[in-house]
Amino acid sequence: MVVIGLGRFGSSLAAELVRRGSEVLALDSRPNVVQRYADELTHTAVADSTDPESLLQLGVHQFKRAVVAIGTELEASILTTSLLADFGIPHIWAKATSRQHGRILERVGAHHVVLPEHEMGERVAHLVNGRMLDYIELAEHYALIKTHAPAEAVGNTLGELKLRSKYGVTVVGIKRPGEEFTYATAETTVGQQDTLIVAGTTPQVEAFAERT
Ligand code: ADP
Repeated sequence: MVVIGLGRFGSSLAAELVRRGSEVLALDSRPNVVQRYADELTHTAVADSTDPESLLQLGVHQFKRAVVAIGTELEASILTTSLLADFGIPHIWAKATSRQHGRILERVGAHHVVLPEHEMGERVAHLVNGRMLDYIELAEHYALIKTHAPAEAVGNTLGELKLRSKYGVTVVGIKRPGEEFTYATAETTVGQQDTLIVAGTTPQVEAFAERT
């Protein structure tokens, strides 16, 4: 995996990949930035990713996966993405700072575009307005949420509660205070202090969280 651009997004992403055991080559054009992450990221190099020769010298064209984590420098982001596409890298992920930027990145060959600020803004909107503890949209209008147990559920098993027919939601996991999350089954009894992981359409999970 090659990660290009070690700003806040790229450096966090590269560090997490390394923690999870991936082989990562991390590049940035600023020597002081590369120096900062040299120990943590093991394989780092100073390179201008808009220069095809530099990329070829580093063997970037041989990677199966690449992340372009250049955000604010639009020209560098677009040029880098198109060079990686010319190399035929099969999985190119690119960070965009606006939807228009994202559309251009797709046009020049990005297979996946992420908009961290837009996506986080939308996610936080669900949290500030309601009673959910966490919200992850898995597909359009389908989400997984973390929520407290609704008062009406306490003391009953999930089998008795019939939440699927009542609210259209499925309880996927449950956590008692001080314990880890476990899979929820029909025999699981809901406790007052429990935290639930619930799947369903956005209006269904929102309505369910409002009952807590
Ligand atoms: P963030 O918002 O995640 O901090 P930035 O857009 O501020 O992202 O940071 C992008 C990083 O990409 C910076 O560290 C910058 O030095 C690096 N960068 C910008 N242009 C190039 C380039 N042509 N080649 C390599 N790295 C680059």
